[in-house]
Amino acid sequence: MRKLGGIKLSHHKNTENCKSVSLPLPAKVRIPMSMHIGAPCEPLVKKGDTVTVGQKIGDTEAFMSAPIHSSVSGKVTAIADYRLSNGRTCKIVEIQTDGEQSVCPDVKPPEVNDKAGFLKAVRESGLVGMGGASFPAHVKLAPKQEVDTLCINAAECEPYITSDYRQMVEAPEEVIDGVLQVMKYLSIPKCVIGIESNKPEAIRILTEKAKAHSGITVHTLPCTYPQGAEKVLIYNTLGRIVMEGQLPADQGAIVMNVSSVAFISRYLKTGMPMISRMVTVDGDDVIGKRCNAVVPVGTPVKDVLAFAECDMERAERLLYGGPMMGVSISDAEDPVIKANNAILAFKKFPSKEASQKASACIHCGRCISACPLNLMPPDICRAYAAKDTDSLNKLKVMLCMNCGCCTYACPAKRPVAETNQFAKVLVMAEGKK
Ligand code: SF4
Ligand code: SF4
Repeated sequence: MRKLGGIKLSHHKNTENCKSVSLPLPAKVRIPMSMHIGAPCEPLVKKGDTVTVGQKIGDTEAFMSAPIHSSVSGKVTAIADYRLSNGRTCKIVEIQTDGEQSVCPDVKPPEVNDKAGFLKAVRESGLVGMGGASFPAHVKLAPKQEVDTLCINAAECEPYITSDYRQMVEAPEEVIDGVLQVMKYLSIPKCVIGIESNKPEAIRILTEKAKAHSGITVHTLPCTYPQGAEKVLIYNTLGRIVMEGQLPADQGAIVMNVSSVAFISRYLKTGMPMISRMVTVDGDDVIGKRCNAVVPVGTPVKDVLAFAECDMERAERLLYGGPMMGVSISDAEDPVIKANNAILAFKKFPSKEASQKASACIHCGRCISACPLNLMPPDICRAYAAKDTDSLNKLKVMLCMNCGCCTYACPAKRPVAETNQFAKVLVMAEGKK
């Protein structure tokens, strides 16, 4: 089988042995009404309302969406506009916690007897992809195509992040049960769990647990970033190529994050919707106490960093997610959302330095070798500079998944991946004319 590109990264899995701990209850949470791909929710509460843990506080009739629930009990103190990292705005619900953590009476295990009931339950749970993609799970689990394999993304290929790893070693039975529930209700005969080889303990535990279930296998993936990208994962576990314009289901596969399936197992047993998640808190020496913290959704990032004894005076760069695909946090008051698997803090702002030192392309081709999708990043950059959208389309720029391998590989320190993102925006704008 032909090898895909990708890059070798230092893993920095400093927190792999940090058992998950619960973050102390924050004084207030701010819960955005958009924590997913698709339509934002409308608040179902107003200022002054009292809310309970697990109470639905946001929803919409749009199919591509997921309802939002309160992570705390307390009083709604404000409903305001909030700017998301993608520049769009949505409403945000601010709740002052009362310290009681009274649970909503609606929280009870759902009655599920068939596929329709299962998909309804998944929607009501508010689950979105926990690996960072934030795709509404009930949409992903309802493809029109016939699917024969559930592909579990347990690669966790970004440096620093270990929250999926902790899920696998602390509660592997939730992973297996979640897999079995999805296979049962969607009539999927096979499941392959893809784990990078730098997690031998997770591979050992899940291989052992999977032995009792003939349809489930564990596949050891190479430690080449980005193993967790859907197209790469499907190719490396199943040998199938998801072509341009296709979804994984077109190749008979559904990809789910390992923590997402574990959440499904918990939800079917308890009915507690998605109100918290495990977050790796790490970085360089500005972090005093690295950890994997279970954080209520809506908790301000600064509370999580305070728990990790972060030196905020020196922390110049904060990230949601990993260093390759993470998103900068501009304000430490911003909340933890459903898709945040990590918060990283660094004292340096490496990209500033890198962009100052960028020099001319030396045509070495390293970015081309590094691209897992076999794209031609230097040609894309040239076509973007010329605003040549025909060439950009021919170069398949819309396939670029912003993995950052090309930028990482470039000895001239050129911001190749970043330019590709601008090129995609240009192509989309042209398509709308
Ligand atoms: S960012 Fe895009 S062009 Fe660069 S390596 Fe990743 S997929 Fe390829
Ligand atoms: S890696 Fe950098 S210098 Fe080399 S071809 Fe790509 S853009 Fe040019």
